[in-house]
Amino acid sequence: MDALLEQYEKMGVSGEVYQYGEKILRGLSERFQAIDEIAEYNQAKVLHAMQKNRVAAPCFAATTGYGYDDVGRETLEKVYRDVFHTEAALVRPQITCGTHALTVALSANLLPGDELLSPVGLPYDTLQEVIGIRPSPCSLAEYGVTYRQVALLADGSFDYPQIAKAIHANTKVITIQRSKGYATRPTFSVKQIGELIAFCKKIKPDVICMVDNCYGEFVETIEPSDVGADMVVGSLIKNPGGGLAPIGGYICGTEACVSRCAYRLSAPGLGQEVGANLGLMPALFQGFFLAPTVVAGAEKGAIFAANLYEPLGFKCVPGASETRHDIIQAVELGSEQAMIAFCKGIQAAAPVDSYVDPLPWAMPGYDDNVIMAAGAFVQGSSIELSADGPIRPPYAVYFQGGLTWYHAKLGILMSLQKLVEAGITQL
Ligand SMILES: *Cc1c(COP(=O)(O)O)cnc(C)c1O
Repeated sequence: MDALLEQYEKMGVSGEVYQYGEKILRGLSERFQAIDEIAEYNQAKVLHAMQKNRVAAPCFAATTGYGYDDVGRETLEKVYRDVFHTEAALVRPQITCGTHALTVALSANLLPGDELLSPVGLPYDTLQEVIGIRPSPCSLAEYGVTYRQVALLADGSFDYPQIAKAIHANTKVITIQRSKGYATRPTFSVKQIGELIAFCKKIKPDVICMVDNCYGEFVETIEPSDVGADMVVGSLIKNPGGGLAPIGGYICGTEACVSRCAYRLSAPGLGQEVGANLGLMPALFQGFFLAPTVVAGAEKGAIFAANLYEPLGFKCVPGASETRHDIIQAVELGSEQAMIAFCKGIQAAAPVDSYVDPLPWAMPGYDDNVIMAAGAFVQGSSIELSADGPIRPPYAVYFQGGLTWYHAKLGILMSLQKLVEAGITQL
């Protein structure tokens, strides 16, 4: 592949980095094949839901104003409902991001005096203000919703005795974050989540179990809603948007939970009946259609990154040979300088904004400065190749996405190139 090396050299990847990458790749063919098999299954699952719900050209028409009788929006929600095997789905461009979707799901189903329990430790950074762990106007705490948390055990597993003790008469919702987020704990498999839900429901059958599904969609053949979750929640500028959705979030779950979410999102009495699609339906349908394949490419990138960096002495979570349950790869780089070099490489490989240098900044919703590399068609989209992380020990970058495997590969090679050039690592 001399032509390929020549092309990569033009883009700044040295022969040494390229050859090292090729050597690593030769050991990954079986794992890549397993990913392709999951993608094929999920592709069929999405196609089946689209066929069953008779997706057709009228679904792609733009609506404006109130958006009553929006056939595109209603059909899209049925497609999501069937893919996640739930009673109902709320899939809207009016849900601005993952945090918003989670906020809607929580605030719709928690009333003053109710308690929220996280049995999986501290939730994702932005959720901490939503809940009121870090005080914020309009947090759940301000509305009289209390919060309790049970830390994971040292090995990352669930602390069942403490969880049992933490479930009370007023425990209304249990929030389970599937992905590690900005932590270095393991991501949970859908099976593990199912066991946790079963345990909680045995103690309190009517408790609502919500799963923050961000970055987990289509990584396995089943979703948390297949193992007892009452609500699964996520962002359309991550996995299920397939890179094409320019905005949006989803909540799939029981009719009772989702209809409350719709009332919270729009207004009591209005619910799912309003919400014009503003011409976004082609992107939301087509993105969902592409999502299983896009997720497979991103996952290959994550596995490649772990296998590339681990032998160089950087701790990777998950480890190079571990099974995965989301598309995020954490690489502990040990210094701010190394985080910046890594992110520069990802940025330099991007189709958009490849010429800019990422720098740490104080991002709203996050406690520490954050560095982000993203040269994305959709701003901030993290199903597109991106790397980010809070500037705090162990100085881990969280690498994710890549609309195509080839782009993910180039980005990872570029990140390594920048670390080599900065003298941080040697091959
Ligand atoms: C990204 C993410 C969120 C928040 O989503 P935004 O779209 O960034 O608001 C919440 N939880 C997890 C685990 C995430 O990865």
